[in-house]
Amino acid sequence: MKGEKYLFVVSGPSGTGKDTVVSRLLALHPEVQKTVSATTRAMREGERDGVNYHFLTKEAFENHLAGGDIVEHTCYCGNYYGTLRSEVERHMQQQIPVILVIEVEGAGNIKRMYPDSTTIFVLPPDMQELERRLRSRGTEQEETIAWRLKRAETEIAHAGDYDRQVVNDDVDRCAEDIYKIISEKISGAEE
Ligand code: ADP
Ligand code: 5GP
Repeated sequence: MKGEKYLFVVSGPSGTGKDTVVSRLLALHPEVQKTVSATTRAMREGERDGVNYHFLTKEAFENHLAGGDIVEHTCYCGNYYGTLRSEVERHMQQQIPVILVIEVEGAGNIKRMYPDSTTIFVLPPDMQELERRLRSRGTEQEETIAWRLKRAETEIAHAGDYDRQVVNDDVDRCAEDIYKIISEKISGAEE
């Protein structure tokens, strides 16, 4: 489909710093945008509806699914998360580079649907640092932290399936690594 090369999928285990790095990238390079997913999970302190996510009830999410408005979705930690068709197609049509920050199952589905998209996996420096970051964020209950850490191992095992891998040891450096991947792809200069 026309415009697929403007899609960039970013995944990585919870707590690796995806949101921090992507926010920095968007601040430094405002021509790059990010899709806003729909979710049924509870809003965290500091999050805003329509900015971080479209926060929906389970029933509303299922209505969107039935209506075909969601191109991929998954159930993660007991909640639905999904990418809205309108978010993806708008950016592709306008040829605006756009980042989807989604987990591995969704990333695989987007790559199958849009083969010229680019998948990027953000790795933590090591597992100890991943756990430290997840805890330092202070947004999760102990049970959820344990679930997310277990899931992290499964997700990291998929890192090699992605087109590119970056390590988040420094936020600015990692943001620029991702920006370089985007610039190379849209200028047609990627390896
Ligand atoms: P994710 O979106 O991958 O779940 P977050 O962006 O919420 O992760 O980051 C998790 C925590 O790690 C946050 O407290 C964030 O400030 C911190 N963090 C992110 N990147 C780094 C880094 N390079 N060095 C140290 N701490 C970081
Ligand atoms: P969080 O609850 O930390 O915001 O997100 C949990 C996980 O869901 C993260 O790995 C995040 O990237 C992923 N996620 C967010 N939105 C979507 C989406 O639209 N689709 C899929 N498949 N995963 C998503």
